[in-house]
Amino acid sequence: MDVLDHADMPFPNSLPDFQHLFPNEAACAAYLENSRWKDGFACPHCGLIGDPFRFAARRSVLRCRSCRKDTSLIIGTVMQGSHMPLTTWFWAAYLVTSQTPGMSAVQFQRQLGLSRYETAFGLMHKLRAGMVRPDRDRIGGLPETHVEADETWVGGRTRGEGRGVHHKILVAAAVEVRHRKPGTKLDKRHDGRYAGRLRLAIVADRSAESLCGFIADAIEPKTMIVTDDWSGYVSLATRGFDHMAVAERGDASVAEKYLPMIHLVFSNLKTWLIGTHHGVSAKHLQAYLNEYQFRFNRRFYPFNAFRSLLGIAGDAAAPTFGELYSGTWQHPISGRCG
Ligand SMILES: [Zn+2]
Repeated sequence: MDVLDHADMPFPNSLPDFQHLFPNEAACAAYLENSRWKDGFACPHCGLIGDPFRFAARRSVLRCRSCRKDTSLIIGTVMQGSHMPLTTWFWAAYLVTSQTPGMSAVQFQRQLGLSRYETAFGLMHKLRAGMVRPDRDRIGGLPETHVEADETWVGGRTRGEGRGVHHKILVAAAVEVRHRKPGTKLDKRHDGRYAGRLRLAIVADRSAESLCGFIADAIEPKTMIVTDDWSGYVSLATRGFDHMAVAERGDASVAEKYLPMIHLVFSNLKTWLIGTHHGVSAKHLQAYLNEYQFRFNRRFYPFNAFRSLLGIAGDAAAPTFGELYSGTWQHPISGRCG
């Protein structure tokens, strides 16, 4: 799914505003129901289309008026198996979506008014897992859109060990460059270009195998890719991509003209890693890269981010009802929580 193509309602600016939008179990349940059945409830057991029975004491269940079987609104979501109120999940997902990075479980607990620290920790952990699961679809492959790709060293401490890349980790990135009408209010760069979707990954080294391997995983074949003239990218043309190599030679104006987005991504990523996480160990870096990518790719549509964290529909990989009810499928991060 291309999240950038989905118009969405404005995202509330504060937790109280959000709580006003989802004040109670009924409001959350209605949202879940609407997410699953745009045109009204259709019973997955007997196929009947029509208004189901609803229960004031158990909002997450709908009962078919024909076959009388129950359908869960939270099956296949991160909430599956939980006895926590829907409002708590919704408010928690809002906080994780919009939170200033680095919120602690204690702050989280306080904001949600939860009595147990363990509950807050568990909720936060499950919702954040939705952010660090890698996106699987490839970027690029769109008309009028090319992709900038590059690699950079991040992290590591070099103090007392001389110059060089001790303990640093190599990160490869690819970002779509899209175009909007130049000169409009949204056109912050004044040349019509803006960044589309991003892919980030740790790579072993700067070899063609590592760098082109990343690109083959991350980008649709035949996409036009712009890189610098490092030898690791030379074989892209023979690997089924349309490739343009640019000799930067330390010339900032060349970089600004041909690789502006990827350099901006690297600069912002490093600021975020240092500012928020005070540097990152190799062990945790991929998770942080995934989170950065998650937030970046959904920055225009926070409701999509919110829905992704809760595991609500709109996801190409979402299971069918057959899979859900045969018990063969489980949301990767669902389960009992508090
Ligand atoms: Zn039925």
